[in-house]
Amino acid sequence: MLYKSTRGRGDTVTASQAIVKGIAEDGGLYVPQEIPKIDSTLESLGEMNYRELAFYIMKKYFDDFSDEELRQCVEGAYDEKFEDPLIAPLNYKAGVHFLELYHGKTLAFKDMALSILPYLMKTAAKKAGISKEIVILTATSGDTGKAALEGFDSVEGTRIIVFYPKDGVSEIQRVQMAVQEGRNTFVVGIDGNFDDAQSGVKEIFADEEFNRLLLENGFMFSSANSINIGRLVPQIVYYVYTYAQLLKAGRIASGENINVVVPTGNFGNILAAYYAKCMGIPIGRLICASNKNKVLADFMNTGVYDRRREFYVTNSPSMDILISSNLERFLYELSGRSEEVVSGLMEKLKKEGVYEINDEMKERLKLVYGGFADEAETIDAIKEVYEGFGYVMDTHTAVAYVVNKKYKEETGDIRAAVIASTASPFKFPKSINEALHFADSDADEFEMVQELSKKMNLRIPKGIQDLDKKEIRHKTTCGKDEMRDVIRKFLGIE
Ligand SMILES: *Cc1c(COP(=O)(O)O)cnc(C)c1O
Repeated sequence: MLYKSTRGRGDTVTASQAIVKGIAEDGGLYVPQEIPKIDSTLESLGEMNYRELAFYIMKKYFDDFSDEELRQCVEGAYDEKFEDPLIAPLNYKAGVHFLELYHGKTLAFKDMALSILPYLMKTAAKKAGISKEIVILTATSGDTGKAALEGFDSVEGTRIIVFYPKDGVSEIQRVQMAVQEGRNTFVVGIDGNFDDAQSGVKEIFADEEFNRLLLENGFMFSSANSINIGRLVPQIVYYVYTYAQLLKAGRIASGENINVVVPTGNFGNILAAYYAKCMGIPIGRLICASNKNKVLADFMNTGVYDRRREFYVTNSPSMDILISSNLERFLYELSGRSEEVVSGLMEKLKKEGVYEINDEMKERLKLVYGGFADEAETIDAIKEVYEGFGYVMDTHTAVAYVVNKKYKEETGDIRAAVIASTASPFKFPKSINEALHFADSDADEFEMVQELSKKMNLRIPKGIQDLDKKEIRHKTTCGKDEMRDVIRKFLGIE
């Protein structure tokens, strides 16, 4: 299995090389030369536990890993760090199946891939003959940073540096990062917003002189963001797992189509569901749910992607995004795997901020239904599902719930629906409180967590238990122009 760039000009590389590099030289994303097929019956997959299935699926993509290497990666990642022994349990409530992807350490679905990426990267670097220490640079608006820190904590041969906007994350998110353990982890609050952190990191990746300085000192940079194929493939596993488990439980019949509903930001999670479909999982419609930043919903309905619009800060912040990088991999498939078409569209997006796909692609795009929910609809849905069914959704999951409801009303489609639940309600207690009123509205987030637990009779996830009593280990802050100095200091480079 080899990987090539969606834009067609980079080298063809092995899985290991694609994981270590992260992004292709021509700026495109790595895609497998062919999406592999599932070659066992779906019934037999139902007999596998999460780890066994993860091995089975990932082996098809990362075939230059030996069985033993891959098994070690899988077993290191999906262990008792996850509070539910099923890793990705299904919960049938309000007529839909909630696929709970938030039982990892940081309470968001990012843990599903970021708990294995460090193992994959370390193994891949060894296979590619890289002796340098890998330095992961990440800019975060909240969820990715903490999940990457937990993943790379104490992983030999790696260091991780996370930059976050000092005043731009929630209290819980900030403290989660500031108390991070691990001698190889570094967290820095920058004076600026998320875009400043993000563009600072991008500039450093592209700074040849600085990269040379690192190499001379025994280091190389890599990335843990969702364009890395090492993050996409682990996400395919839970869609296959879900189908096999539904089948096993008799909730669906053999071969029956299900719909998959995904609250979407960077288009990584829903793309993994599409890959699962290509591999042979019977998926009917993919339902792409956006918040008020509905650039994707508009695209699904018109075939026009237009980022020239106002950016909104919403109560589902992990979906506040106007450029969905993983959409590029989907465009590649929609165009019949045409590098020319993808390069052209990406060029237009960069230059003009807008592009339109051709009629043939529009026809194929009908596979995806796009819809959106505003903040009030999101809050109402949390209330409705709690009052009707005693189940507490987080804001991102609630966006998906609303869009699925609109979809059903519009189409009358009654197929079984699986909603990707991407975060624990404990991560966004302020918004949940707006819907359910379990605490004083002026209480701080830590008090709200306690009240949410008490009033709703929910156990506080381990990841945030006693968070406010932990030692603050990371206090570094810097200006946006001082990021290089901070990195040198962390790495001990004079
Ligand atoms: C990252 C994130 C999303 C968006 O996922 P994408 O793969 O970027 O589309 C949705 N919900 C939560 C809670 C997230 O952290």
